[in-house]
Amino acid sequence: MKKIIYNFSAGPAMLPQEVLIKVKNQFLNWNNIGSSIIEISHRSSEFLKIIKNSYKYLKKLLSIPDEYIILFCQGGARGQFSAVPMNLLNKFYTADYINSGYWSYHSMVEASKYCTPYQINVKSITESKKSILPMSQWNLNKNTDYVHYCPNETIEGIAIHEEPNFQGKIVVGDFSSSILSRSIDVKKYGVIYASAQKNIGPAGITLIIMRRDLLKYKTNILLPTILNYKTIYKNQSMFNTPNTFSWYVSGLVFKWMIKNGGISFFEKLNYKKAKLLYQKIDSSNFYINDVHIKNRSYMNVVFNLVDQKLNDLFLKESIMNGLNFLKGHKFYGGFRASIYNAMPISGVKALIQFMTDFEYKYK
Ligand SMILES: *Cc1c(COP(=O)(O)O)cnc(C)c1O
Repeated sequence: MKKIIYNFSAGPAMLPQEVLIKVKNQFLNWNNIGSSIIEISHRSSEFLKIIKNSYKYLKKLLSIPDEYIILFCQGGARGQFSAVPMNLLNKFYTADYINSGYWSYHSMVEASKYCTPYQINVKSITESKKSILPMSQWNLNKNTDYVHYCPNETIEGIAIHEEPNFQGKIVVGDFSSSILSRSIDVKKYGVIYASAQKNIGPAGITLIIMRRDLLKYKTNILLPTILNYKTIYKNQSMFNTPNTFSWYVSGLVFKWMIKNGGISFFEKLNYKKAKLLYQKIDSSNFYINDVHIKNRSYMNVVFNLVDQKLNDLFLKESIMNGLNFLKGHKFYGGFRASIYNAMPISGVKALIQFMTDFEYKYK
């Protein structure tokens, strides 16, 4: 019997098996046209059908209201670190940047090229664990063009589960590692962006959901056309040739999600998976997680061995047990289990079993 492998990579990350099999079966001859999907024009009627469905499925999944537009572009989330300020700074020429960890901090660093952003540090300590200040305590500034934050810090495994409620503020969210993991009230946001490779599909495409009226603003004159939301929108996300493969697979993932019960199904499943894993960590004095329960990520579960001398052994034995890519981020060390939508609960249970066995062996 083939050994079952579970992939805990943070990104590019695991995709649903069912989708991969479909891609494989269709790869040489898509829909009986005699060509692969990656060999045909993005403007062909065949590909346009794929695109149309991808918009339709996504709109349904996230209940995206009509006054919002959906763009698929390139350059990843980091491309948006530049695109957001260059498109949205228009009146006050500054913005609030919430610093909750690595990615939100780096989005601010990039924005500093275009303005002098207000950095708002929301990192805190609660009951000697890392936490994030509640949104009601975020000291936003009056005259800013938007507020930027990251609801799920992929590296630290820290999440902000609250939804923003800032009267009159345009809220921009980097949802790269949390999009489609839970329901969101799209109306609370001006711009939601996410690179695909965590919870959507293969790397190479970036999703943007934005309030249509934000297109009217005057943009930075140096804004590269390729990052200009107006241009991308006017050209139906095809100003330049899109990553057709990534877009196609993403569409299949959206469809797979709908078939399985949509966002509410995955939200419940993700919560259950994360809860099981944190319970395992908390119930032992062999493993430790340093994030306060109110800010723990449901997507990226970070943990450490109390005895760090066992780290290399843990990693080696985890791989021997078919549990791959648990190594934490290089800036952070320890371990990280990324358990996005595609990770079945059986994968989390296999990890928990391994952790129990390892502890028993080496305690
Ligand atoms: C992965 C990630 C990024 C970087 O994405 P790229 O597509 O590599 O630019 C940015 N923000 C968050 C929250 C991420 O998880």
